[in-house]
Amino acid sequence: MSSVTVRVPAKVNVQLSVGPLREDGYHDLVNVFHAVSIFDEVVAKESEGMTVSVVGEWADQVPVDDGNLAIQAARALAKHAGRTYGAELVIHKAIPVAGGMAGGSADAAGALVACNELWGLGLPLEDLMEIAGDLGSDVPFSLLGGTAVGTGRGEQLSQLPTGGLFHWVFAVAEGGLSTAKVYAECDRLRAETGADVPWPELDEALLAALRAGDAPALGARLANDLQLAALTLRPDLAGTLDEGRRHGALGALVSGSGPTCAFLATDADHARDLASTLSQFAGCTTAVPAHGPVPGAALL
Ligand code: ATP
Repeated sequence: MSSVTVRVPAKVNVQLSVGPLREDGYHDLVNVFHAVSIFDEVVAKESEGMTVSVVGEWADQVPVDDGNLAIQAARALAKHAGRTYGAELVIHKAIPVAGGMAGGSADAAGALVACNELWGLGLPLEDLMEIAGDLGSDVPFSLLGGTAVGTGRGEQLSQLPTGGLFHWVFAVAEGGLSTAKVYAECDRLRAETGADVPWPELDEALLAALRAGDAPALGARLANDLQLAALTLRPDLAGTLDEGRRHGALGALVSGSGPTCAFLATDADHARDLASTLSQFAGCTTAVPAHGPVPGAALL
């Protein structure tokens, strides 16, 4: 096989509960991931060396050296297989960069699936999941897709049943937010108030809403413990969230560490209208409709 293409989705966290800061610097999380229909494509072609290039809307914001998560994933896979392999990776970028939608993790997952096929390794999903977990806590979910809850640092995943499709709008903001800085701001704000940080628990009402495909109920339960920190670092996002609510969003929240904002719409038509309204709003670079859940990294 001389060329393989893999499609891999972005995610939104419909519940992100962040526990107290642990001694190892991580937090225990309850992280409900939901894969949505904004896709990067990772193409892997036969090559002697290992290279990566990026094309598409957000290409200029992505590193094309060893800092690229897709190349790190390809190298980790080659190491796991115990051989030196090459690949020319080309990423077609549609997922906003540093936007809290796990774009880099998606590309890493895409590279694992693509190179597994290109090199004829035939590794099962469980092996790829293990390598993915070492690459970053969001990478296993990008392989799996659907809707799933991550516990621990977010990497211990269980699939969650959902009843039907949910319709979303993602409002992309100017610039990015560093995930590490948003967690640090969250810790700083918590230290300032001195309030006890509760142990994170899976929200049963949210689970029931997902299971029933009940968008109004899901909209009412959307929760992100990083939102206050993201809004402190980027106060302009509050206006974007309000604008979406004023136009009928069933729920609005910062996606992961932000600055992308996610809005739950009533149906596909509402999502299209809301995206068109939000893309005119001063705080948004663009706004795109999408639906979820969708499958994880898949060969085309
Ligand atoms: P998360 O939601 O997992 O916290 P994010 O969506 O906020 O992540 P990413 O788009 O994954 O952020 O990008 C984070 C940083 O990773 C970027 O600033 C970029 O420099 C770097 N990066 C490395 N590889 C990639 C890649 N393939 N695509 C996007 N960013 C990458």
